[in-house]
Amino acid sequence: MTPAIWSNRIRREKQTLACMLRLYCKAHHGGKKSLCPACRKLLEHTWERLDFCPFENAKPVCVRCPHNCHASRDRAELRKVMRYAGPRLLWRHPLLALLHILDSKKHPQRSDST
Ligand code: SF4
Ligand SMILES: [Zn+2]
Repeated sequence: MTPAIWSNRIRREKQTLACMLRLYCKAHHGGKKSLCPACRKLLEHTWERLDFCPFENAKPVCVRCPHNCHASRDRAELRKVMRYAGPRLLWRHPLLALLHILDSKKHPQRSDST
């Protein structure tokens, strides 16, 4: 992981989601080195939304976002993934988990607002 990933909020969020999905997929769908097709699709959809996130580096966690841009089906799936993988991330990827907890304290602020 390059140091830039820590300062680039969107890249870090992508990395966090990929780690969480790997934990979830391994436990629920038998995914080993790669994600199952459903989890891969969810990751791709989520990354696409992140590419257009208007908050950029000031991005809040999606669950607290007033402008939740994920499709409702993806949102429900992501909630399940977070519920399972959130606590486990702390053991597997403590730095990502800690930064995610800090992000969850942030208030949403668009990058174009002054
Ligand atoms: S839900 Fe909100 S924070 Fe998450 S990607 Fe969409 S706009 Fe950005
Ligand atoms: Zn899966």
